[in-house]
Amino acid sequence: MIKKNQLKEELTELDKKHFIHPTSNMKQLQEEGPSFIFTEGDGIYLKDMEGRTLMDSLSSLWNVNIGHGRKELGEAAKAQMEKLAFTSTFSNWSHEPAIRLAAEVAKWTPGDLNATFFTSGGSEANDTAFKTVRHYWKLKGHPEKKKIISRKKSYHGVAMGSTSATGIPEFHTFTESIAPDFYYVDSTIESLKELIEKEGADSIAAFISEPVQGSGGVNLPSEGYFEEVRKICDKHHILLISDEVICGFGRTGTHFGMENFGIIPDIITMAKGVTSGYAPLGGMIISEKLHQEIYEKAEGNFWHGYTYSGHPTAAAVALKNLEIIKNENLIDNVNRMGEEMLKGFKWIQEQNKQVIDVRGIGLLGAISIDRKSADVAPVGPKVVAEALKRGLICRSVVYDGQDTLAFAPPFVINKKQMDEMITIVDESIRAVN
Ligand code: PMP
Repeated sequence: MIKKNQLKEELTELDKKHFIHPTSNMKQLQEEGPSFIFTEGDGIYLKDMEGRTLMDSLSSLWNVNIGHGRKELGEAAKAQMEKLAFTSTFSNWSHEPAIRLAAEVAKWTPGDLNATFFTSGGSEANDTAFKTVRHYWKLKGHPEKKKIISRKKSYHGVAMGSTSATGIPEFHTFTESIAPDFYYVDSTIESLKELIEKEGADSIAAFISEPVQGSGGVNLPSEGYFEEVRKICDKHHILLISDEVICGFGRTGTHFGMENFGIIPDIITMAKGVTSGYAPLGGMIISEKLHQEIYEKAEGNFWHGYTYSGHPTAAAVALKNLEIIKNENLIDNVNRMGEEMLKGFKWIQEQNKQVIDVRGIGLLGAISIDRKSADVAPVGPKVVAEALKRGLICRSVVYDGQDTLAFAPPFVINKKQMDEMITIVDESIRAVN
Protein backbone atom coordinates (compact mmCIF):
# COMPACT_ATOMS: atom_id res chain seq x y z
CA MET A 1 0.00 0.00 0.00
CA ILE A 2 2.77 2.40 0.98
CA LYS A 3 4.50 1.51 -2.28
CA LYS A 4 1.42 2.42 -4.29
CA ASN A 5 1.13 5.81 -2.60
CA GLN A 6 4.80 6.48 -3.20
CA LEU A 7 4.40 5.67 -6.86
CA LYS A 8 1.41 7.99 -7.11
CA GLU A 9 3.35 10.78 -5.43
CA GLU A 10 6.32 10.24 -7.70
CA LEU A 11 4.17 10.27 -10.84
CA THR A 12 2.28 13.35 -9.64
CA GLU A 13 5.50 15.29 -9.18
CA LEU A 14 6.87 14.18 -12.56
CA ASP A 15 3.57 15.08 -14.20
CA LYS A 16 3.62 18.60 -12.74
CA LYS A 17 7.20 19.25 -13.72
CA HIS A 18 7.38 17.69 -17.17
CA PHE A 19 3.98 17.00 -18.68
CA ILE A 20 1.95 19.75 -20.38
CA HIS A 21 -1.63 18.54 -20.61
CA PRO A 22 -3.82 19.23 -23.65
CA THR A 23 -6.73 21.65 -23.11
CA SER A 24 -6.07 21.99 -19.41
CA ASN A 25 -5.88 24.47 -16.56
CA MET A 26 -2.12 24.51 -16.06
CA LYS A 27 -2.28 26.44 -12.79
CA GLN A 28 -4.75 24.01 -11.26
CA LEU A 29 -2.57 21.09 -12.37
CA GLN A 30 0.43 22.65 -10.64
CA GLU A 31 -1.56 23.12 -7.46
CA GLU A 32 -3.46 19.83 -7.39
CA GLY A 33 -1.69 17.44 -9.76
CA PRO A 34 -3.66 15.16 -12.09
CA SER A 35 -7.08 14.13 -10.75
CA PHE A 36 -6.71 10.59 -12.10
CA ILE A 37 -3.74 8.50 -13.03
CA PHE A 38 -5.39 5.72 -15.00
CA THR A 39 -3.96 2.26 -15.06
CA GLU A 40 -6.44 -0.04 -16.82
CA GLY A 41 -9.57 -0.13 -18.90
CA ASP A 42 -12.22 -2.80 -19.34
CA GLY A 43 -15.44 -2.33 -21.32
CA ILE A 44 -17.12 0.84 -20.12
CA TYR A 45 -14.89 1.09 -17.03
CA LEU A 46 -11.55 2.69 -16.23
CA LYS A 47 -9.39 1.96 -13.19
CA ASP A 48 -7.03 4.46 -11.61
CA MET A 49 -4.04 4.27 -9.31
CA GLU A 50 -6.16 4.76 -6.23
CA GLY A 51 -7.96 1.54 -7.10
CA ARG A 52 -11.17 3.29 -8.12
CA THR A 53 -13.29 1.68 -10.84
CA LEU A 54 -15.12 4.39 -12.77
CA MET A 55 -17.74 4.25 -15.49
CA ASP A 56 -16.45 6.14 -18.55
CA SER A 57 -19.61 7.85 -19.80
CA LEU A 58 -17.84 9.84 -22.53
CA SER A 59 -15.90 6.90 -24.01
CA SER A 60 -12.87 8.88 -22.74
CA LEU A 61 -12.86 11.58 -25.43
CA TRP A 62 -15.92 10.48 -27.45
CA ASN A 63 -13.71 7.86 -29.03
CA VAL A 64 -13.32 4.52 -27.21
CA ASN A 65 -16.43 3.31 -28.99
CA ILE A 66 -15.94 -0.45 -28.73
CA GLY A 67 -14.98 -0.03 -25.07
CA HIS A 68 -11.70 -0.48 -23.27
CA GLY A 69 -9.49 -3.54 -23.10
CA ARG A 70 -10.29 -5.36 -26.34
CA LYS A 71 -7.42 -7.80 -26.77
CA GLU A 72 -8.07 -8.30 -30.50
CA LEU A 73 -6.91 -4.76 -31.22
CA GLY A 74 -3.73 -5.29 -29.28
CA GLU A 75 -3.16 -8.49 -31.23
CA ALA A 76 -3.80 -6.76 -34.57
CA ALA A 77 -1.32 -4.01 -33.60
CA LYS A 78 1.28 -6.53 -32.45
CA ALA A 79 0.99 -8.63 -35.60
CA GLN A 80 1.30 -5.60 -37.88
CA MET A 81 4.06 -4.01 -35.85
CA GLU A 82 6.11 -7.17 -35.93
CA LYS A 83 5.61 -7.58 -39.66
CA LEU A 84 5.89 -3.96 -40.83
CA ALA A 85 5.55 -1.34 -38.11
CA PHE A 86 6.02 1.58 -40.43
CA THR A 87 6.87 2.66 -43.87
CA SER A 88 5.84 5.70 -45.83
CA THR A 89 2.93 6.08 -48.22
CA PHE A 90 4.36 9.27 -49.74
CA SER A 91 4.49 9.46 -53.48
CA ASN A 92 3.98 6.02 -55.03
CA TRP A 93 4.75 3.82 -52.02
CA SER A 94 1.94 1.79 -50.52
CA HIS A 95 1.15 -1.10 -48.21
CA GLU A 96 -1.74 -3.47 -47.61
CA PRO A 97 -3.18 -2.10 -44.31
CA ALA A 98 -3.64 1.43 -45.71
CA ILE A 99 -5.06 0.13 -49.01
CA ARG A 100 -7.47 -2.22 -47.23
CA LEU A 101 -8.56 0.47 -44.78
CA ALA A 102 -9.23 3.02 -47.53
CA ALA A 103 -11.33 0.39 -49.34
CA GLU A 104 -13.17 -0.53 -46.13
CA VAL A 105 -13.94 3.11 -45.30
CA ALA A 106 -15.51 3.46 -48.77
CA LYS A 107 -17.93 0.66 -47.83
CA TRP A 108 -19.06 2.63 -44.77
CA THR A 109 -19.57 6.00 -46.45
CA PRO A 110 -22.71 7.18 -48.23
CA GLY A 111 -22.83 8.14 -51.92
CA ASP A 112 -19.62 8.19 -53.88
CA LEU A 113 -17.35 9.30 -51.02
CA ASN A 114 -14.82 6.69 -51.96
CA ALA A 115 -11.30 8.06 -51.62
CA THR A 116 -9.52 8.66 -48.30
CA PHE A 117 -6.46 10.67 -47.34
CA PHE A 118 -5.19 9.55 -43.92
CA THR A 119 -4.00 11.70 -41.04
CA SER A 120 -3.15 11.09 -37.38
CA GLY A 121 -6.30 12.73 -36.02
CA GLY A 122 -9.23 15.08 -36.53
CA SER A 123 -7.42 18.42 -36.52
CA GLU A 124 -5.15 17.31 -39.32
CA ALA A 125 -8.15 15.87 -41.18
CA ASN A 126 -9.89 19.25 -41.13
CA ASP A 127 -6.77 21.18 -42.11
CA THR A 128 -6.37 18.73 -44.97
CA ALA A 129 -9.96 19.37 -46.04
CA PHE A 130 -9.49 23.16 -46.00
CA LYS A 131 -6.41 22.92 -48.18
CA THR A 132 -8.08 20.40 -50.47
CA VAL A 133 -11.17 22.51 -51.14
CA ARG A 134 -9.03 25.55 -51.94
CA HIS A 135 -6.86 23.43 -54.22
CA TYR A 136 -9.97 22.05 -55.92
CA TRP A 137 -11.38 25.50 -56.66
CA LYS A 138 -8.01 26.65 -57.92
CA LEU A 139 -7.95 23.73 -60.34
CA LYS A 140 -11.48 24.63 -61.45
CA GLY A 141 -10.25 28.13 -62.33
CA HIS A 142 -11.62 29.85 -59.18
CA PRO A 143 -8.59 30.58 -56.97
CA GLU A 144 -10.55 33.36 -55.27
CA LYS A 145 -12.91 30.76 -53.72
CA LYS A 146 -11.02 30.24 -50.47
CA LYS A 147 -13.18 31.33 -47.54
CA ILE A 148 -14.29 28.67 -45.08
CA ILE A 149 -17.56 29.08 -43.20
CA SER A 150 -18.23 27.28 -39.94
CA ARG A 151 -20.86 27.46 -37.21
CA LYS A 152 -20.58 29.15 -33.83
CA LYS A 153 -20.08 26.58 -31.04
CA SER A 154 -18.44 24.18 -33.50
CA TYR A 155 -15.26 22.32 -32.61
CA HIS A 156 -12.96 21.30 -35.43
CA GLY A 157 -9.61 20.88 -33.70
CA VAL A 158 -6.49 22.81 -32.82
CA ALA A 159 -4.19 22.88 -35.85
CA MET A 160 -4.00 26.35 -37.40
CA GLY A 161 -6.85 25.85 -39.86
CA SER A 162 -9.02 23.74 -37.58
CA THR A 163 -8.59 26.16 -34.66
CA SER A 164 -9.58 28.96 -36.99
CA ALA A 165 -12.71 27.08 -38.06
CA THR A 166 -13.63 26.27 -34.46
CA GLY A 167 -16.50 28.45 -33.30
CA ILE A 168 -15.81 28.35 -29.55
CA PRO A 169 -14.31 31.75 -28.67
CA GLU A 170 -11.95 30.43 -25.96
CA PHE A 171 -9.86 28.66 -28.59
CA HIS A 172 -9.36 31.95 -30.45
CA THR A 173 -8.57 34.15 -27.47
CA PHE A 174 -5.78 31.73 -26.49
CA THR A 175 -3.73 33.49 -29.16
CA GLU A 176 -4.71 36.70 -30.86
CA SER A 177 -3.73 35.51 -34.30
CA ILE A 178 -5.83 33.02 -36.22
CA ALA A 179 -5.74 32.16 -39.90
CA PRO A 180 -7.42 34.47 -42.42
CA ASP A 181 -10.47 33.57 -44.53
CA PHE A 182 -12.52 31.90 -41.78
CA TYR A 183 -16.07 33.10 -41.08
CA TYR A 184 -18.71 32.03 -38.56
CA VAL A 185 -22.46 31.82 -38.71
CA ASP A 186 -25.25 31.20 -36.22
CA SER A 187 -26.93 27.86 -36.63
CA THR A 188 -29.79 29.26 -38.68
CA ILE A 189 -30.35 29.23 -42.43
CA GLU A 190 -30.84 33.03 -42.38
CA SER A 191 -27.41 33.56 -40.89
CA LEU A 192 -25.77 31.39 -43.55
CA LYS A 193 -27.67 33.13 -46.36
CA GLU A 194 -26.73 36.56 -44.99
CA LEU A 195 -23.05 35.71 -44.83
CA ILE A 196 -23.02 34.32 -48.38
CA GLU A 197 -24.78 37.45 -49.56
CA LYS A 198 -22.31 39.70 -47.74
CA GLU A 199 -19.08 37.92 -48.68
CA GLY A 200 -20.13 36.69 -52.10
CA ALA A 201 -20.38 33.02 -53.09
CA ASP A 202 -17.50 33.47 -55.53
CA SER A 203 -15.14 33.94 -52.56
CA ILE A 204 -16.38 30.94 -50.52
CA ALA A 205 -14.77 27.51 -50.84
CA ALA A 206 -16.65 25.46 -48.28
CA PHE A 207 -19.02 25.23 -45.36
CA ILE A 208 -17.98 22.88 -42.56
CA SER A 209 -20.22 21.49 -39.86
CA GLU A 210 -20.45 18.67 -37.39
CA PRO A 211 -23.76 16.79 -37.88
CA VAL A 212 -24.24 17.16 -34.13
CA GLN A 213 -21.94 19.62 -32.38
CA GLY A 214 -19.98 17.70 -29.77
CA SER A 215 -17.59 19.76 -27.65
CA GLY A 216 -19.82 22.83 -28.11
CA GLY A 217 -22.48 21.13 -25.98
CA VAL A 218 -24.05 18.26 -28.00
CA ASN A 219 -26.22 20.57 -30.08
CA LEU A 220 -28.62 18.94 -32.52
CA PRO A 221 -29.51 20.87 -35.67
CA SER A 222 -33.00 22.31 -36.02
CA GLU A 223 -35.51 20.41 -38.16
CA GLY A 224 -34.64 20.55 -41.87
CA TYR A 225 -31.43 22.54 -41.28
CA PHE A 226 -28.97 20.34 -43.15
CA GLU A 227 -31.38 19.59 -46.00
CA GLU A 228 -31.54 23.34 -46.59
CA VAL A 229 -27.76 23.78 -46.13
CA ARG A 230 -27.17 21.15 -48.81
CA LYS A 231 -29.43 23.04 -51.24
CA ILE A 232 -27.75 26.40 -50.49
CA CYS A 233 -24.29 24.92 -50.98
CA ASP A 234 -25.32 23.38 -54.30
CA LYS A 235 -26.88 26.61 -55.49
CA HIS A 236 -23.77 28.67 -54.68
CA HIS A 237 -21.11 26.10 -55.59
CA ILE A 238 -19.90 25.84 -52.03
CA LEU A 239 -18.48 22.48 -50.95
CA LEU A 240 -20.02 20.88 -47.88
CA ILE A 241 -17.64 19.30 -45.38
CA SER A 242 -19.13 17.11 -42.68
CA ASP A 243 -16.86 16.87 -39.65
CA GLU A 244 -17.70 13.36 -38.49
CA VAL A 245 -14.81 13.07 -36.04
CA ILE A 246 -17.31 12.29 -33.25
CA CYS A 247 -20.35 11.14 -35.24
CA GLY A 248 -18.57 8.85 -37.72
CA PHE A 249 -18.66 5.06 -37.55
CA GLY A 250 -21.84 4.60 -35.58
CA ARG A 251 -21.99 7.13 -32.72
CA THR A 252 -25.38 8.53 -33.79
CA GLY A 253 -26.87 5.16 -34.76
CA THR A 254 -26.00 5.42 -38.46
CA HIS A 255 -22.64 4.94 -40.15
CA PHE A 256 -22.18 8.71 -40.45
CA GLY A 257 -24.09 11.48 -38.72
CA MET A 258 -25.33 13.26 -41.85
CA GLU A 259 -27.26 10.13 -42.82
CA ASN A 260 -29.73 11.05 -40.08
CA PHE A 261 -30.66 14.09 -42.14
CA GLY A 262 -30.67 12.33 -45.51
CA ILE A 263 -27.91 14.38 -47.09
CA ILE A 264 -24.55 13.50 -48.59
CA PRO A 265 -21.65 15.91 -48.04
CA ASP A 266 -18.82 16.44 -50.56
CA ILE A 267 -16.19 15.69 -47.95
CA ILE A 268 -16.23 13.79 -44.67
CA THR A 269 -13.52 14.23 -42.07
CA MET A 270 -13.12 11.52 -39.49
CA ALA A 271 -10.88 10.26 -36.66
CA LYS A 272 -11.68 8.98 -33.14
CA GLY A 273 -14.19 6.13 -33.76
CA VAL A 274 -12.33 4.70 -36.74
CA THR A 275 -9.84 3.11 -34.31
CA SER A 276 -11.91 3.52 -31.11
CA GLY A 277 -8.86 5.41 -29.90
CA TYR A 278 -6.63 2.32 -29.82
CA ALA A 279 -4.24 4.04 -32.24
CA PRO A 280 -4.16 7.62 -33.55
CA LEU A 281 -5.69 7.82 -37.01
CA GLY A 282 -8.00 10.15 -38.89
CA GLY A 283 -8.71 11.13 -42.45
CA MET A 284 -10.48 13.08 -45.12
CA ILE A 285 -12.85 11.20 -47.43
CA ILE A 286 -13.73 12.87 -50.74
CA SER A 287 -16.28 12.27 -53.46
CA GLU A 288 -15.29 10.74 -56.79
CA LYS A 289 -15.89 14.10 -58.48
CA LEU A 290 -13.30 15.82 -56.29
CA HIS A 291 -10.90 12.92 -56.47
CA GLN A 292 -10.96 12.87 -60.25
CA GLU A 293 -10.67 16.64 -60.56
CA ILE A 294 -7.53 16.59 -58.44
CA TYR A 295 -5.76 13.71 -60.16
CA GLU A 296 -6.62 14.83 -63.66
CA LYS A 297 -5.59 18.49 -63.39
CA ALA A 298 -2.34 20.34 -62.58
CA GLU A 299 -0.42 17.19 -63.40
CA GLY A 300 -2.14 15.61 -60.41
CA ASN A 301 0.26 17.02 -57.84
CA PHE A 302 -0.94 16.84 -54.22
CA TRP A 303 1.51 18.85 -52.12
CA HIS A 304 0.26 17.75 -48.73
CA GLY A 305 1.15 14.75 -46.60
CA TYR A 306 1.98 13.68 -43.06
CA THR A 307 4.71 11.21 -42.13
CA TYR A 308 1.99 9.14 -40.50
CA SER A 309 -0.57 9.31 -43.32
CA GLY A 310 -1.81 5.73 -43.52
CA HIS A 311 0.37 4.44 -40.67
CA PRO A 312 0.33 0.63 -41.13
CA THR A 313 -0.08 -0.27 -37.45
CA ALA A 314 -2.84 2.30 -36.93
CA ALA A 315 -4.54 1.11 -40.15
CA ALA A 316 -4.43 -2.52 -38.99
CA VAL A 317 -6.00 -1.47 -35.68
CA ALA A 318 -8.72 0.48 -37.52
CA LEU A 319 -9.56 -2.53 -39.71
CA LYS A 320 -9.97 -4.76 -36.66
CA ASN A 321 -12.05 -2.11 -34.88
CA LEU A 322 -14.44 -1.72 -37.84
CA GLU A 323 -14.70 -5.51 -38.10
CA ILE A 324 -15.75 -5.70 -34.43
CA ILE A 325 -18.37 -2.94 -34.85
CA LYS A 326 -19.83 -4.86 -37.82
CA ASN A 327 -19.56 -8.42 -36.51
CA GLU A 328 -21.00 -7.59 -33.12
CA ASN A 329 -23.78 -5.39 -34.56
CA LEU A 330 -22.72 -2.65 -32.20
CA ILE A 331 -24.62 0.04 -34.09
CA ASP A 332 -27.87 -1.81 -33.27
CA ASN A 333 -26.88 -1.54 -29.63
CA VAL A 334 -26.17 2.18 -30.10
CA ASN A 335 -29.77 2.60 -31.26
CA ARG A 336 -31.25 0.45 -28.49
CA MET A 337 -29.19 1.98 -25.70
CA GLY A 338 -29.53 5.46 -27.22
CA GLU A 339 -33.31 5.17 -26.75
CA GLU A 340 -32.81 4.07 -23.15
CA MET A 341 -30.43 6.96 -22.52
CA LEU A 342 -32.87 9.55 -23.86
CA LYS A 343 -35.74 7.98 -21.91
CA GLY A 344 -33.56 8.19 -18.80
CA PHE A 345 -32.66 11.83 -19.48
CA LYS A 346 -36.36 12.71 -19.88
CA TRP A 347 -37.07 11.05 -16.56
CA ILE A 348 -34.25 13.08 -14.98
CA GLN A 349 -35.77 16.25 -16.41
CA GLU A 350 -39.15 15.40 -14.87
CA GLN A 351 -37.49 14.91 -11.47
CA ASN A 352 -35.29 18.00 -11.52
CA LYS A 353 -36.73 21.46 -12.21
CA GLN A 354 -33.35 23.04 -12.95
CA VAL A 355 -32.89 20.71 -15.94
CA ILE A 356 -34.08 22.81 -18.85
CA ASP A 357 -33.28 20.58 -21.79
CA VAL A 358 -32.33 17.02 -22.60
CA ARG A 359 -31.41 15.73 -26.03
CA GLY A 360 -29.77 12.83 -27.75
CA ILE A 361 -29.25 10.89 -30.94
CA GLY A 362 -27.80 7.40 -30.80
CA LEU A 363 -25.33 7.29 -27.94
CA LEU A 364 -24.62 11.00 -28.02
CA GLY A 365 -26.61 13.05 -25.55
CA ALA A 366 -26.74 15.99 -23.16
CA ILE A 367 -28.51 17.47 -20.18
CA SER A 368 -28.64 21.27 -19.90
CA ILE A 369 -29.06 22.99 -16.60
CA ASP A 370 -30.56 26.44 -16.17
CA ARG A 371 -27.63 28.82 -15.73
CA LYS A 372 -29.83 31.92 -15.69
CA SER A 373 -26.88 34.13 -16.72
CA ALA A 374 -23.24 33.72 -17.74
CA ASP A 375 -22.19 35.43 -14.46
CA VAL A 376 -23.69 32.66 -12.35
CA ALA A 377 -21.28 29.83 -11.52
CA PRO A 378 -22.19 26.74 -13.56
CA VAL A 379 -23.66 23.74 -11.77
CA GLY A 380 -22.20 21.19 -14.23
CA PRO A 381 -18.73 20.93 -12.64
CA LYS A 382 -20.34 20.31 -9.23
CA VAL A 383 -22.52 17.57 -10.72
CA VAL A 384 -19.39 16.05 -12.27
CA ALA A 385 -17.72 16.01 -8.82
CA GLU A 386 -20.79 14.37 -7.25
CA ALA A 387 -20.94 11.78 -10.05
CA LEU A 388 -17.31 10.94 -9.46
CA LYS A 389 -17.99 10.17 -5.80
CA ARG A 390 -20.58 7.70 -7.08
CA GLY A 391 -18.22 6.06 -9.59
CA LEU A 392 -19.12 7.89 -12.81
CA ILE A 393 -16.91 10.03 -15.00
CA CYS A 394 -18.91 12.55 -17.00
CA ARG A 395 -18.12 15.80 -18.75
CA SER A 396 -19.40 19.28 -18.15
CA VAL A 397 -19.45 21.85 -20.98
CA VAL A 398 -19.41 25.42 -19.74
CA TYR A 399 -18.29 27.51 -22.71
CA ASP A 400 -20.26 30.49 -23.75
CA GLY A 401 -22.61 30.74 -20.79
CA GLN A 402 -23.77 27.13 -21.17
CA ASP A 403 -24.19 24.66 -18.37
CA THR A 404 -24.38 21.28 -19.99
CA LEU A 405 -23.46 17.70 -19.17
CA ALA A 406 -22.35 15.68 -22.21
CA PHE A 407 -22.58 11.90 -22.59
CA ALA A 408 -21.25 9.46 -25.15
CA PRO A 409 -20.86 6.04 -23.52
CA PRO A 410 -19.14 3.16 -25.31
CA PHE A 411 -21.25 1.24 -27.85
CA VAL A 412 -21.02 -1.88 -25.65
CA ILE A 413 -22.97 -0.42 -22.72
CA ASN A 414 -25.83 -2.68 -21.57
CA LYS A 415 -29.23 -1.88 -20.05
CA LYS A 416 -28.14 -2.48 -16.46
CA GLN A 417 -25.14 -0.18 -16.88
CA MET A 418 -27.29 2.46 -18.58
CA ASP A 419 -29.77 2.35 -15.67
CA GLU A 420 -26.87 2.76 -13.27
CA MET A 421 -25.55 5.74 -15.24
CA ILE A 422 -28.96 7.43 -15.22
CA THR A 423 -29.42 6.81 -11.49
CA ILE A 424 -26.03 8.30 -10.67
CA VAL A 425 -26.63 11.37 -12.86
CA ASP A 426 -30.01 11.93 -11.22
CA GLU A 427 -28.58 11.58 -7.70
CA SER A 428 -25.67 13.87 -8.56
CA ILE A 429 -27.94 16.63 -9.90
CA ARG A 430 -30.10 16.38 -6.75
CA ALA A 431 -26.98 16.48 -4.55
CA VAL A 432 -25.96 19.95 -5.76
CA ASN A 433 -29.28 21.53 -4.86
N1 PMP B 1 -13.57 17.65 -34.94
C1 PMP B 1 -14.40 17.27 -33.95
C2 PMP B 1 -15.88 17.29 -34.20
C3 PMP B 1 -13.88 16.85 -32.72
O1 PMP B 1 -14.71 16.50 -31.75
C4 PMP B 1 -12.49 16.82 -32.55
C5 PMP B 1 -11.87 16.33 -31.25
N2 PMP B 1 -12.61 16.45 -30.13
C6 PMP B 1 -11.68 17.23 -33.61
C7 PMP B 1 -12.24 17.63 -34.79
C8 PMP B 1 -10.18 17.26 -33.47
O2 PMP B 1 -9.67 15.99 -33.48
P1 PMP B 1 -8.23 15.67 -32.85
O3 PMP B 1 -8.31 16.04 -31.40
O4 PMP B 1 -8.06 14.20 -33.12
O5 PMP B 1 -7.23 16.48 -33.59
